[in-house]
Amino acid sequence: MGLLFVESLPGPKVFKCIFCKVDSASLDAIVSKDFNGRYGRAYLFKNVVNVCLGPNEDRHLLTGLHTVNDIYCSSCHQLLGWRYEKAYDETQKYKEGKYILERARMVKEGW
Ligand SMILES: [Zn+2]
Repeated sequence: MGLLFVESLPGPKVFKCIFCKVDSASLDAIVSKDFNGRYGRAYLFKNVVNVCLGPNEDRHLLTGLHTVNDIYCSSCHQLLGWRYEKAYDETQKYKEGKYILERARMVKEGW
């Protein structure tokens, strides 16, 4: 068993994992709030912390076929959202390398 390294974000406005309250993403990293996840609203972030990636999976989303990885909290291993590895439609390419976090799986701290 290894030591768990938990990264802290500077804030003041930070989203945290709703289950274990480690930092997940900062407000500044939001690209769009106009996404839908498995559990309702979801936000697109350019960067997140304290997550583990699942295997590559091809998934048909509302905007077409994408290769994605599910992302899990590295502290409590709950599913938080997914990462866009590859988009096949030119108009969706901006999502590549970015992360979806489910709004229902985050708590706001600092505002
Ligand atoms: Zn967690």
